[in-house]
Amino acid sequence: MKVIVVGGGVIGLSIAWRAAARGMDVTVVDPVPGGGATGVAAGMLAPVTEVHYGEEALLALNLDSSARYPDFVAELEECSGLRTGYRESGTLSVARDADDLAALDELVAYQRSLGLEVERLRSRDLRRLEPALAPGVRGGALVPGDHQVDPRRLGVALLEAGRRLGVSQCRQRARGVAPGRVSLDSGEVVVGDAVIVAAGCWSSGLGGMPADVAAALRPVKGQILRLRGPAGETLAQHNIRGLDAYLVARSDGETVVGATVEERGYDTTVTAGAVHDLLRAALELVPDVAELALVEHRAGLRPGSPDNAPLLGPTEVEGVVVATGHYRNGILLAPATAAAIVELLDTGAVPASIRAFSPRRFERVAS
Ligand SMILES: Cc1cc2nc3c(=O)[nH]c(=O)nc-3n(C[C@H](O)[C@H](O)[C@H](O)COP(=O)(O)OP(=O)(O)OC[C@H]3O[C@@H](n4cnc5c(N)ncnc54)[C@H](O)[C@@H]3O)c2cc1C
Repeated sequence: MKVIVVGGGVIGLSIAWRAAARGMDVTVVDPVPGGGATGVAAGMLAPVTEVHYGEEALLALNLDSSARYPDFVAELEECSGLRTGYRESGTLSVARDADDLAALDELVAYQRSLGLEVERLRSRDLRRLEPALAPGVRGGALVPGDHQVDPRRLGVALLEAGRRLGVSQCRQRARGVAPGRVSLDSGEVVVGDAVIVAAGCWSSGLGGMPADVAAALRPVKGQILRLRGPAGETLAQHNIRGLDAYLVARSDGETVVGATVEERGYDTTVTAGAVHDLLRAALELVPDVAELALVEHRAGLRPGSPDNAPLLGPTEVEGVVVATGHYRNGILLAPATAAAIVELLDTGAVPASIRAFSPRRFERVAS
C-alpha cells in the first residue's frame, strides 16, 4: 500500500514511521519537517495535570498514549540510533498562594474522582521533593505519571527512523488533496492509495479538504521561552506547573518556560509582555530561573478544534484520512494517533480508540 502523509510534524512523522514499520510504502510531503508546533512545544506528557472538566473521552486517549510512550521511545531510539530526551520525571502542581491552593484542591478532587493517581502535598513535603521551589509556595500535588520528552529530538529521531525504513521525503508544500492524490505547489502530483492529512493547523488551508473539517480547525498561538544552565545540570527533577506558567527542565541543562494561549490567527509575533509574564510566573515558582541564560523566545501555532480534541479518521472524501487538531497534547498523543491511523490503513476499520474523534462530528457546525 502506498501512503502519502501531508505534514511532517510529530503526528505525520509518527504515522509515517509506524506505517513503514508495517511494510507500507510511505512518502511525507512537507517543505520543513518539524517546522510547525512540534519544534516549539515544551514536551510535557501530562494526561493527568492537563485534564479538564467534560473531556473524559480525550482523557482516555491521552492516558492510552501516555502508557504507550516508554515502548514507543525505546523502539524509536533503537530504530534511529538517537535519543529523544524522554524522562520519567513526574509533575508537581504548585500553589503560590491561597487562591492557587483553592483551585488546586478542586483539581485534585476532580482528578481523584476520575481514579487518577495524584498525591496532595504540604509545602514542606513539596520542597523536600523539589528543593529548587520558592520558599513561599503554599502547597501542591505530585502526579507521578506525567513525564516529559524533548519534541525537537523526538522529531529528528522520527525522521531518521523513517529514513532507515525507507520513508521518502518530498520537501515541497502541498496545495490540495483528492482521492489518491496530493498536488504540490510546483504543479507536480504525488499519487498513492491513501492520503493522510497531518499538516497541523495548516490542514484547513489545503484544497479539497471537506468544508466542515477545515472550518473546525484553527491556530492557537503559544509563546514559550528556552533557557539554559550549565550542561548536565537539571534545574528541577520534576515538571513544575503553576497556575500561570510551567517549567520543563531537561537533563541537558535546557529549561523550557511556557506558555501563553492566544487567539490571534496565524500571527507568530513574539511580544515583550509574554516574556515578562512568563518569566515573572516562573521566578515565583523557582527563583533560580534568574541565573539561567535566556536563549530563545518563540511562538508556535497549536492545531485547535471546537472541543479541544483531535480529528482522527476518514473524511467524506474517499481515501482521505485526517490526523490533526491535537491542540495542547500533540506530542503526548503521537503514539496513540500513529497506532490508530496505521490500524485504520491496515484493516480499513476505524479503531475503537478513535471513534469518538471522527472528523465528521463537526458536520452540523459547518452547515
Ligand atoms: C508553545 C507550545 C507548547 C506546547 N507544549 C506541548 C506539550 O508540552 N505537550 C504536548 O503534548 N503538546 C504541546 N504542544 C502542542 C503540540 O506542539 C501540537 O499539538 C503538535 O505539535 C501538533 O503536531 P502536528 O504534527 O499535528 O502539527 P505541527 O507540529 O504543527 O506540524 C505540521 C507540519 O505540517 C507542515 N505543513 C504545513 N502546511 C503544509 C502544506 N501545505 N504542505 C505540506 N506540509 C505542510 C508544517 O511544515 C509542519 O511541519 C505545544 C504547542 C505549543 C505551540
